[in-house]
Amino acid sequence: MDTTILIIEDEKDLREILEYNFRKDGYRVQSAANGADGFHLLGQPSLPSLVILDLMLPDMSGLEICRRVRQERRTASIPVLMLTARSEEIDRVMGFEVGADDYVTKPFSVRELLLRVKALIKRAGAPAVPSEEVRFGVLRIDFPAHRVWVNDEETVLTALEFNLLRTLFVRKGRVQTREMLLNDVWDISADVTTRTVDTHVKRLREKIGEAEKYVETVRGVGYRFAGMPNEDTK
Ligand code: CA
Repeated sequence: MDTTILIIEDEKDLREILEYNFRKDGYRVQSAANGADGFHLLGQPSLPSLVILDLMLPDMSGLEICRRVRQERRTASIPVLMLTARSEEIDRVMGFEVGADDYVTKPFSVRELLLRVKALIKRAGAPAVPSEEVRFGVLRIDFPAHRVWVNDEETVLTALEFNLLRTLFVRKGRVQTREMLLNDVWDISADVTTRTVDTHVKRLREKIGEAEKYVETVRGVGYRFAGMPNEDTK
């Protein structure tokens, strides 16, 4: 396995336990004891596959680091798993403008952390655009033909709506910020704002009827296509 994990954690003992266990599981490990060292490692040509990030660091908050990782186009899609000591921080960590992919609350079992990391990496490595027709619950999408059916009834999407659906779909289970969607779906030169994203998501939802339940709003962050068609959705 050639998967690199970056651990940003100031507690030396915990950092060493994590380093040891991830190495034992076959990962390559980089570690940093503060945000500045973490950013230095994130500035290197080869990026880690995932970042484990402590919320409380001596030089800056994990929230701020996560926000910056998400804002930088180069690092925006790296999964971030946050280590938090206080459960009341979880809403902020997962929502609003921070956008971590997952979290564990201290104290945690290393075994559980390993499982979460494995799941996140698997999700992040999801395939690119499928070259054929796929089914997802009530939704059927023919990617090469740009055609979409809901409960076997075709719905006609504009090119932009189809791009939006495709972009959300290929990153199933992962939050897409409005900025990421703007970058990836819209022409960068287009005169659009993040509000445009909301408008088009609304229109897409109307057109895909029952399948709109798969397009989840992540409050204050953006949107996420459900990881599985049978997941409970809001
Ligand atoms: Ca800490």
